[in-house]
Amino acid sequence: MINKAIRLADTCRYVKFYRGRDVSCMDHRKYIYLFNEGNAGMRDLLGGKGANLAEMTNLGIPVPSGFTISTEACIKYYEDGKVMPEIIVDQIYTALEKIEGKTGKKFGNVKNPLLVSVRSGARVSMPGMMDTILNVGLNDDTVKGLSRLTGNERFAYDSYRRFIQMFSDVVMGIEKRKFEDVLDDAKDAKGAEYDTELDASELKQIIEKFKKIYSNETSSHFPQDSGEQLIQSITAVFKSWDNPRAMEYRRLNGIPGNWGTAVNVQSMVFGNMGETSGTGVAFTRNPATGEKSIFGEYLINAQGEDVVAGIRTPQPIIKLKENLPECYSQFIDIAQKLEAHYKDMQDMEFTIEQGKLYFLQTRNGKRTVQSALKMAVDMVEEGLINKEEAILKVEPKQLDTLLYPSFHSDELKKAIIIAKGLPASSGAACGRIYFTSEDAKRHHDQGEKVILVKLETSPEDIEGMEISEGILTIRGRMTSHAAVAAREIGICCVAGCSDLILNEKTKSFTGAGKVYKEGDYISIDGSTGNVYGGPIKTVSPEISGYFGTFMSWADDIRKMEIRTDRVPAARLAAAQAQVRNPRK
Ligand code: ADP
Ligand code: MG
Repeated sequence: MINKAIRLADTCRYVKFYRGRDVSCMDHRKYIYLFNEGNAGMRDLLGGKGANLAEMTNLGIPVPSGFTISTEACIKYYEDGKVMPEIIVDQIYTALEKIEGKTGKKFGNVKNPLLVSVRSGARVSMPGMMDTILNVGLNDDTVKGLSRLTGNERFAYDSYRRFIQMFSDVVMGIEKRKFEDVLDDAKDAKGAEYDTELDASELKQIIEKFKKIYSNETSSHFPQDSGEQLIQSITAVFKSWDNPRAMEYRRLNGIPGNWGTAVNVQSMVFGNMGETSGTGVAFTRNPATGEKSIFGEYLINAQGEDVVAGIRTPQPIIKLKENLPECYSQFIDIAQKLEAHYKDMQDMEFTIEQGKLYFLQTRNGKRTVQSALKMAVDMVEEGLINKEEAILKVEPKQLDTLLYPSFHSDELKKAIIIAKGLPASSGAACGRIYFTSEDAKRHHDQGEKVILVKLETSPEDIEGMEISEGILTIRGRMTSHAAVAAREIGICCVAGCSDLILNEKTKSFTGAGKVYKEGDYISIDGSTGNVYGGPIKTVSPEISGYFGTFMSWADDIRKMEIRTDRVPAARLAAAQAQVRNPRK
């Protein structure tokens, strides 16, 4: 199919008609953008990775040259019945020529081969969901050229064996394990611990074994035509948009299936060229604590995924200062520049090829809620952003986890579960049970901690609910009155707990064969739905000073509305709406 598409594309360059259709006026859309033609605002078209590669290129940051095949191309691929459209193949070759011009290398050329990576990148980051292939363009001949050119035979064959592994996995779906077993055997035979210890001749033998696996599994030889390798790799990335992993991720995160992924084709830089080369990942601030210092890891003499794959233990980024001081200071400068430019903490990927630093990715980094609050407040104090920008940097839902009490872990281990209902509103609560809102209120006024137990709640119960530590209902589901109201009030709720038999007349319930009467202690966990037959100590969340400062800004911004609302997530959401749509 791919071959046919390539041939078709070739044909289309020279003839005006194909199968009676005037192909010269079929589709003239631009499907491909060189990195210097894009920018960060073009995320929908170029995907997050592509848009940021373009932005970095335009900022003058060293980014290996390349181009992005747009999400529209991916959509067209699916519209055309999962066939690579000829116009896109055509545009790929035109763009590739431009990259050849920039790098002075030629794709598929034996003497001076250009190698590329083929990288997926959707509008929103979907970490680890889709695929990337490195070293595309290597074959039995170009590997020799690469070896001669660099004077580094080991490196050339190491790159080739990696390419065969990745291509086989991503494009042909051959089990990774099959290749890893061959590598492990070779290491065992040598008594080597790491694959960096394998030399060129050992790698050549490994490659022969890899090619055998490939032909056994696919009944064809490992493709030697660079063009075919490239188009198959790009097609595989388009296809990976619809792999079950990616579909599940989209379902969980509410990402529409018709967005498609962009594909980035980028000239390779090599972190596996020896002791002055390496690859790493870093954040401009600590994503767990928010502390303002570069946080990251790198591996010497390694390529791409080695850092995350845990093949060898990476070194903290500060070690780079000793190993390659110039690279380190350049790295710090660029990291700071990126953070100032994006006005947010950046998560970056970089590679060093023989002492020369390249950036391969940047994006706003994921973070814990604690660090999100600290960073937002710090950045305002540093003058990097204003308060309005700061409050947009925290996801309201994230605040929930900060506020809910949890059970003391030692006590929880000893506790007995008497029933299980639906985890309707997060948090943990312990208190004496009461069966009407009036009783709950009266005992609360006398200083007791109370849990309201009802068949179902209704709007008349609101007052009783508000003063309760938690709500337990026998009926109702996640959208029942109790569940919705508890989430709004910000207290924990276990709903639909039909394991318990409630007796409203005697004000008691039976659970796990035991009767619990008014005033008895129980504990409920709104995150799991568990109901425990006795008291369990709860631990209040620690609310740091950053949280307070942050919320006071949010409250100032959202002005007077919903002053009485207890839930910080709702207060923050209201403030964000005010910033995004400053009305009235
Ligand atoms: P993911 O989205 O899973 O991070 P990437 O496309 O970012 O996948 O690539 C995987 C790894 O390969 C990253 O470490 C990246 O830095 C590296 N990589 C990608 N393209 C190149 C390239 N042209 N040269 C060197 N390394 C690359
Ligand atoms: Mg990446």
